Amino acid sequence: MADDKTTHFGFQEVPWQDKASRVAGVFRSVAPKYDLMNDLMSMGIHRAWKRFTLELAGVRPGHRVLDLAGGTGDLAMKFSRLVGDTGEVVLADINEAMLGVGRDRLFDAGCAHNTRVAQVNAEALPFADNSFNCITIAFGLRNVTDKDKALKSMLRVLKPGGRLLVLEFSKPIHKPLSKLYDIYSFNVLPRLGKAIADDAESYQYLAESIRMHPDQQTLKGMMEAAGFARCDYFNMTGGIVALHRGFKV
Ligand code: SAM
Repeated sequence: MADDKTTHFGFQEVPWQDKASRVAGVFRSVAPKYDLMNDLMSMGIHRAWKRFTLELAGVRPGHRVLDLAGGTGDLAMKFSRLVGDTGEVVLADINEAMLGVGRDRLFDAGCAHNTRVAQVNAEALPFADNSFNCITIAFGLRNVTDKDKALKSMLRVLKPGGRLLVLEFSKPIHKPLSKLYDIYSFNVLPRLGKAIADDAESYQYLAESIRMHPDQQTLKGMMEAAGFARCDYFNMTGGIVALHRGFKV
């Protein structure tokens, strides 16, 4: 990789190799108040987006599930119940602060018997080939520097027949909604971040990173290019969020 290669961090252009540490700074800062802020910012709607993700996961007792960029473990906790005593859930994230909150929540929720926690980079997953029935990455891919590399890494560790679900902010499909959403994102979110977490910058990054993320069709194309089959997506809340699905054949 050339040393002068750049990428975006929100609306800023930064050296390619600096993005991961900047993202790490954001999530180290937001970790203690992450769950509260999620509920406040989305007015609880993120729970419905995640419920739909669980419905499309097709996870059954005995399955192995990777909740990648799983942070504080919302999905991992639910998967723990679905896979039962014979299955396993790996809560994986690059950030030790987010994982620390996630590990405590899994433990408190009685999920320790079938969950593991792993500090990993989505771009280079340290798991065996063909080892998971399902991988979810919720609101995580946006923050990954090399998304194509990460998608290929996910494909490698999925079992044939397994599926990847990418839950991520996307592009609103109606203009009026888009305008309202911009006003909310760039005015309300940083103020809420300042008031609740004493951190306006991280929530400004959130709003900017959403705008820089590939739209529905582009992400579908990236999944296909990485080798996923039967890729499709489902818009939720007018396309503010989309759930992408792809299979390993
Ligand atoms: N999945 C959780 C949820 O939906 O509530 C947490 C989402 S949080 C917005 C994004 C997470 O992605 C953070 O915990 C961050 O540390 C993680 N992340 C960012 N870059 C990553 C990478 N390259 N590999 C793994 N995790 C990463």
